[in-house]
Amino acid sequence: MSTAAIATSASEKTTIGTTAATAATTTSARLGMMLTDLRLPTIKRLAGDLCAQSDTEGWPARRFLEALLEHEINEREARRIDRHRNESGLSADKRLSSFDFTAVPSVSKAQVMALTQGTEWLDRGANVLLFGPPGVGKSHLVSALGHALIDAGRRVLFTRCSDLVQRLQAARRDLRLPQELAKLDRFDLLILDDLSYVRRDQAETSVLFELISERYERKSLAITANAPFSQWGEVFVEPAMTLAAVDRLVHHSTILEMNVESYRRRAAQAGHAPPGRKARSTT
Ligand code: ADP
Ligand code: MG
Repeated sequence: MSTAAIATSASEKTTIGTTAATAATTTSARLGMMLTDLRLPTIKRLAGDLCAQSDTEGWPARRFLEALLEHEINEREARRIDRHRNESGLSADKRLSSFDFTAVPSVSKAQVMALTQGTEWLDRGANVLLFGPPGVGKSHLVSALGHALIDAGRRVLFTRCSDLVQRLQAARRDLRLPQELAKLDRFDLLILDDLSYVRRDQAETSVLFELISERYERKSLAITANAPFSQWGEVFVEPAMTLAAVDRLVHHSTILEMNVESYRRRAAQAGHAPPGRKARSTT
């Protein structure tokens, strides 16, 4: 073959190659647009690689289709869980993995784990109540429970009880308390941290009572409190209201009593070593 002929054939190949590449680019741009229209970002991102892998390995069409859809579904679920965690108000670091159960012997780890594994108690509107003095890990444990429930696909909102009461009070003033309570319905679990710090005036406690009544046997509450029920009279003011609130809360509930010494104080005394481990090593 003459040098000219070789040159021609090479340039033809280049032209054909370029045309094929242009066609592929056009197809993939079109595919990209369709996937954007259909809101399938994961398939859009992975389509190129998966098409190539499928072509090279000769996948049957069904396998290819299933692989694409599985990726989209898995990522969609992960994005949903991320969204739920972002809206939850939970501290990122208060997890079960960082909670030392040996520091609170009165709390059964198995019982807490059971609450995270079978989550149907949320469908019954059952409650979790955590009692104990300051610093014993109530907020940490209830947050850890919240994170685990989000991992299980549930929606959780963590709020300081006094903040929520203020929000509900403002809603009542604007005559939109029912709407505000209805908004909270989208959460399977509403965590009210530090019930005992609610200011003791009638208007505040009655919105709290309405919240408890509204969710009763429908939607779950998790409440932490320094004071046991005997002192809730100070929170609800009217004895009849206290009785009715306590009655509704405990009817279907898991009660976690955390009557130990403050974890913070013990950690400080132990030179920041986790109290549980310190205790074991000294016995
Ligand atoms: P409470 O809500 O009962 O006042 P916190 O949950 O705020 O207590 O706990 C105080 C601090 O000690 C937090 O930083 C928390 O993460 C930590 N802490 C408490 N108990 C434990 C525990 N058992 N394991 C690990 N950290 C704990
Ligand atoms: Mg707390």
